[in-house]
Amino acid sequence: VGRSSIEWTEETWNPTRGCSRVSPGCEHCYAESIAARFSDAGYPFHGFALRGKRGPRWTRRLALVDEQSFPGNGKLDLPLRWRRPRRIFVNSMSDLFHESLSNEDIAAIWGVMAACPQHTFQVLTKRAHRMRQWFEWIAKRPTGLLGMRYAPKLVCAGFAQERTGRHWTVPDAAVWPLPNVWLGVSVESQEYAEERIPQLLSVPAAVRFVSYEPALGPVTFGAFLDAHRNHSCELGGEAHNGSEQCAACHDGRPAPRLDWVIVGGESGPKARAFDVEWARSVVSECRQTKVACFVKQLGRKPFHGAPGAQGPMPLTNKKGNDMTEWPKDLRVRQWPSARIAA
Ligand code: SF4
Repeated sequence: VGRSSIEWTEETWNPTRGCSRVSPGCEHCYAESIAARFSDAGYPFHGFALRGKRGPRWTRRLALVDEQSFPGNGKLDLPLRWRRPRRIFVNSMSDLFHESLSNEDIAAIWGVMAACPQHTFQVLTKRAHRMRQWFEWIAKRPTGLLGMRYAPKLVCAGFAQERTGRHWTVPDAAVWPLPNVWLGVSVESQEYAEERIPQLLSVPAAVRFVSYEPALGPVTFGAFLDAHRNHSCELGGEAHNGSEQCAACHDGRPAPRLDWVIVGGESGPKARAFDVEWARSVVSECRQTKVACFVKQLGRKPFHGAPGAQGPMPLTNKKGNDMTEWPKDLRVRQWPSARIAA
């Protein structure tokens, strides 16, 4: 039995603290509300969030929660202490690729994930551009040894050991991307899908996923679900169109595509409306392309009905996450075909 109430994970791990709003999906951020509630002097979010006249607000302060900065209360090495394999949502209360975190601090978190092959980590960000920049940075880290480069896994392990004060042998250093890390972006609308998903598809990952929650408008995922899509790749330093030569730039494998789509309406007292047709469309697209789909919740304000005759869908469950209340065709909760744990 997991400790998180989030349906697609078991456990949450927050090695960083603080955040700031980045797009409309953040407007009713539950993390900001929780942080503001615990922001008085002596509480964990003191200095990270405020209760202002206009409601809870992040202060934009970010920190790595390691032992050096938070003596006796460090969170960075927590997964190392969990022996039983768990599916872990990384930074449910922050954003791993926040612009205020240093590349080295982000690398330390990856180093801990590398040291815990028994767990599956689910990293979800709204900062896809920074995510890509971080992957470019880690790929260029020099070793100082004979001009070779460290495997990124070793570099990350180095930063993790420095910041946790613990030391361990790094097994199987060549494996990158880490097979036990699923990488995802949050998108709330077509605009943000177009902006963030291409960045996700351009970085190395064992599993790539999207959280389309809170869904604030219709999204067509289209080519992002298609490994044979027409797209641009770098081949021999030159951009080329994917349709003809593409097999060559992915080692003969199909081009990266989304492996998993989570969809959900907004919850909370100020939730915005969610058209259940948006979920229906995603379920249908995923079925056609054989991509795993996970309908998480219909949210607080689902509506349905034929165009011109739409109305609220009556649900007794406030989050709209009781599947027995849903239309049968939306009761879809699939998982990407990947190792859950070693
Ligand atoms: S990125 Fe996530 S944690 Fe940060 S403000 Fe937005 S919703 Fe909240």
